[in-house]
Amino acid sequence: MRYSQLFGKTSKSIPSDADSVNARLLTQGGFIQKEISGVYNYLPLGLRVLTKIQNIIREEMDKIGGQEILMPALTQEESWVTTGRHTMDVLFHLKGQGNTSLVLNPTHEEVVTPLAQKYIFSYRDLPFSVYQIQNKFRNEARAKSGLLRGREFNMKDLYSFHTDENDLNQYYEIVKQAYFEIYKRLGIGDITVLTFASGGSFSQYSHEFQTLCESGEDTIYLCEKCQLAINKEIIDIQKTCPKCGNDNLKTVKAIEVGNIFKLRTKYSKSFNFYYSDKNGQEKIVEMGCYGLGPSRTMGAIVESCHDNKGIIWPANIAPYQIHLIGLDLHDEKIKLQSVDIYQKLIEKNIEVLYDDRLDVTAGIKFADADLIGIPTRLVLSKRSLENGGIEIKKRNEEKSEIISLDFVFEKIV
Ligand code: ATP
Ligand code: MG
Repeated sequence: MRYSQLFGKTSKSIPSDADSVNARLLTQGGFIQKEISGVYNYLPLGLRVLTKIQNIIREEMDKIGGQEILMPALTQEESWVTTGRHTMDVLFHLKGQGNTSLVLNPTHEEVVTPLAQKYIFSYRDLPFSVYQIQNKFRNEARAKSGLLRGREFNMKDLYSFHTDENDLNQYYEIVKQAYFEIYKRLGIGDITVLTFASGGSFSQYSHEFQTLCESGEDTIYLCEKCQLAINKEIIDIQKTCPKCGNDNLKTVKAIEVGNIFKLRTKYSKSFNFYYSDKNGQEKIVEMGCYGLGPSRTMGAIVESCHDNKGIIWPANIAPYQIHLIGLDLHDEKIKLQSVDIYQKLIEKNIEVLYDDRLDVTAGIKFADADLIGIPTRLVLSKRSLENGGIEIKKRNEEKSEIISLDFVFEKIV
């Protein structure tokens, strides 16, 4: 992509209402643009990152047998009356034609349970799991912190259906492992811990994945021996590490990036969701639900992976792998050489953002590259050529080196 053509440019001015690092850097870097409080537009750079996060999640969900579907954002309020959740504060209510009562779904148990019920009748149809990656709507009391707490935000939600509790328990552990793999691939594996979630006795049925980060809104108690934690909200009933008994827990701040629940029969009871077992007896379906927010995770990654110059994207989710800067482009020879490198990178399927602008200084190009945060920067200039080739520098390192144009592709592949 040529930077001169890219929709969404960097901006020097700090957005006046950016209350967090992720809101500021993502807006200034040209990744997102606020629509209204807690609702964002994703510009091409931002959508590339979000899509990469979603694709990693998608691959890991497919690996554990999840089948991807897409449920509607809009549904009848009646399903929410059935479960008694129609009075929840976060629900957005609408009126449809004929004064029908509709809601924008903040989560999809009320849609997926009756949907599954249309196809599941026998033990032979179980277990199975479906997931979607879709926007959720929650009228959060306080939408804040950029992508961390939105009113319209992206979520991956997986739902599993089982004949009995034992089968649910086994699958729950499989999903847990898939989540660890996802955070590892997203580049935040070493700072994301499993947390016993809030909710009193419900906590044995629920876990959160929390990314350690000073700006996080959750306080957790971390066992440094097991990398396991407890959410502050339940510390009164659990003052030691649930795994090793360590009572010297460290207090840290974190961002909840995932939350998994054994729903058991909560929703199957509401919808009378039964199957017939081997003996032809009616049994209730056991359910699990597993949420992970790609948009909040994108914000959390920026909160933990940045310096005072800008974002430092983990390679797997960076919008591009190479940020190629051409300097002295009024010199026809240098211009041709840099275009040649740009085209060769494209031919080799290496994702490249090429700063081909003629009207800005080298200083601005360097500052923009640091702000955007692509892992590897290449600079072709009169000086680099005099020094023997092209300059290469990693975003997360200070040192740079000059490599011969003949070896540049070997070096970066
Ligand atoms: P929180 O406790 O932060 O309000 P939650 O426990 O209500 O979130 P879930 O309903 O379990 O969240 O949602 C699953 C995932 O969706 C969360 O782990 C988070 O990654 C994401 N998520 C939830 N609410 C929001 C929001 N308002 N904005 C962005 N992402 C969200
Ligand atoms: Mg939560």
